[in-house]
Amino acid sequence: MKIAIISGKGGTGKSTITSALTAIAQDVIAVDCDVDAANLYLIFHPTEETTIPFSTSSHAVVNAEDCIGCSTCSDACHFGAIECIDGLAVVDERACEGCQLCTRICPTQAIHMEASKDSYIYIGNFRYGKMVRARLTPGEENSGMLVTQLRKKAEETAKEKGDSLLLLDGPPGIGCPVIASITGVDKVVVVCEPSLSGIADMKRACQLASSQEIPIYLIINKCDLDQENSDSVRAWAAEKQYPVIAMLPFESDMVAAQMQAKTIMEYAPQSICSNELRKAFKQLTLS
Ligand code: SF4
Ligand code: SF4
Repeated sequence: MKIAIISGKGGTGKSTITSALTAIAQDVIAVDCDVDAANLYLIFHPTEETTIPFSTSSHAVVNAEDCIGCSTCSDACHFGAIECIDGLAVVDERACEGCQLCTRICPTQAIHMEASKDSYIYIGNFRYGKMVRARLTPGEENSGMLVTQLRKKAEETAKEKGDSLLLLDGPPGIGCPVIASITGVDKVVVVCEPSLSGIADMKRACQLASSQEIPIYLIINKCDLDQENSDSVRAWAAEKQYPVIAMLPFESDMVAAQMQAKTIMEYAPQSICSNELRKAFKQLTLS
């Protein structure tokens, strides 16, 4: 079974809840799809048995021996990424968009494209099974493509391990990386906090999951911080027929667990949140 946990808005406690569900599951493949700001590994300290380089972009490279300094490339580049200095074309990697135009028009074929060595996928063990995660180099694009690769590796890992539960910690937002995180999953859990922005973004995340016809479950985090808003989320969820599987009050134990790099299940197994999340996990995996 593949369950993705998303939220729309960032900072709702999505990763904290994913880590708790991971601890409840005990034997799981945890996939950190938030490749821009992965942080599940900070709690679980996985090993890095397998490291797979992943290129999200390419840039032009000039072979100095073949360049005759004609400026054809620098005149044509729409991004100002290549410049002729002292009779030699020089590429600014950060400005190069990888369009390949210069490689096609260079009269001496002095330019070729090279994949940027930037991002990595890591597969390793941790105390509750296997973790698949990635690190996207700052400033790199195509994180949706990286998430797709990450999921492919996670699913290969699941196959090797036999039938396993995949818990996918999705990124915030509703863009490509989120779409790549939820496509083809069995269930989506949307974590919501009872703030105006939290509710608005939760609804957009639900709309996205609903467009893919994925069953949606809601968890309202820090529900007691605004009871009225929490009630309105419940009413909205009832209307949409999305089960609310946990109502988590604000508990200082949640914060303390994070400070100690533990899940709430490990830090305070009998807390209200731990009990609510146990029930939520049961509902998710039995239904
Ligand atoms: S077009 Fe080719 S030969 Fe001319 S400056 Fe650029 S790299 Fe050099
Ligand atoms: S690949 Fe495109 S963007 Fe990059 S230097 Fe060549 S023409 Fe410019």
